[in-house]
Amino acid sequence: MSDCLIIGGGAIGMMSARYLALSGVKVTLIDQQACAQESSWAGGGIISPLYPWKYDDLTNELSLASQVVYEQLCAQILEDTGLDPQYLKSGLLMMDEYDSDEAIAWMKRYNLNYQSHQQGALFSEIAQVRNPRLLKALKADIVNKGVKIIEHVKIEKLLIKNDKALGVVSSNKTYLADCVLACSGAWSSQWLDLKEEIFPMKGQMIVLKSKPDTVENIVLDQGRYIIPRQDGRILVGSTMQNVGFDRSTDDQTRKALHEFASQRFSSLANAQVEHHWSGFRPASKSAKVMLGKHAKFDNVFLNTGHFRNGINMAPESAKRITQLINHET
Ligand SMILES: Cc1cc2nc3c(=O)[nH]c(=O)nc-3n(C[C@H](O)[C@H](O)[C@H](O)COP(=O)(O)OP(=O)(O)OC[C@H]3O[C@@H](n4cnc5c(N)ncnc54)[C@H](O)[C@@H]3O)c2cc1C
Repeated sequence: MSDCLIIGGGAIGMMSARYLALSGVKVTLIDQQACAQESSWAGGGIISPLYPWKYDDLTNELSLASQVVYEQLCAQILEDTGLDPQYLKSGLLMMDEYDSDEAIAWMKRYNLNYQSHQQGALFSEIAQVRNPRLLKALKADIVNKGVKIIEHVKIEKLLIKNDKALGVVSSNKTYLADCVLACSGAWSSQWLDLKEEIFPMKGQMIVLKSKPDTVENIVLDQGRYIIPRQDGRILVGSTMQNVGFDRSTDDQTRKALHEFASQRFSSLANAQVEHHWSGFRPASKSAKVMLGKHAKFDNVFLNTGHFRNGINMAPESAKRITQLINHET
């Protein structure tokens, strides 16, 4: 029996496991496949919402508080595991929308500003992580911190008795715990009854092989972005497709993303597309994060529905859910 069972081993589940374990909670984390294979792997790793003024207050709060701790957190994870999440303050060059009324009001409210740039607005404090590496490091880190990971087990439902969760159930086994924390991303509504449905919003991305310093900053324009990694690889994303759990990628999108990057950096026109993939953002109609207690069961907690911002909100979401679980159980 564990103090807390976490269902889902993406960035949200593993970051929550880290914070809970550090607070002294005995954690078991279960994933239906190997951890770190889904949205958190597929994403871009930008440590900010793309146009922050388009999001609700909670998203902004979680994101801004996470931005403050990310660099130190990555340094600590590197020190503890020897694996580098490659936190990089590459800055973000926004080529559109930064001068809208909404944007100006948001910057005033949060006391944030940008430097003028020939092609737009440079937000020099915005950073990125190499999310697949962050996840690899987090996995090693939580194992070091005593978290038990069970992979390739799909949870089918809660085990409920007298309005309380005793644990969770897979096709052939029961797992008991004092509390359950759902971090199962786009699949959350498949095994949990939630107030608002969570569904997958597919995003396609490509990576171009290039030389370091071809692109200096993250570039954002017309909702699409270019992310330069330290080793010269350049990610270009992404689509927003409400098509269910369909993982397919298509040539038209690959070409459109490559063209988007080439139009802004002509040297990328001949760069090889090394890989093209898709991922499922955990979306909901309201686009609001579900962070807190389940509506019906006092010892079931939710940390899901992070939509386009799960990497950038992970630390503060994990911190808050840890505080709530420790206070309530
Ligand atoms: C193309 C793309 C680009 C993105 N770019 C960014 C970005 O730049 N910055 C940013 O902050 N965010 C970005 N995002 C969004 C971000 O990736 C997500 O918000 C985040 O990964 C959600 O994390 P998660 O842990 O909730 O979900 P996931 O990483 O999907 O993890 C959920 C886990 O739960 C497991 N699971 C589900 N159901 C069960 C079950 N029944 N039993 C057991 N295990 C289960 C799954 O196997 C999975 O491992 C992007 C997403 C995409 C697709």
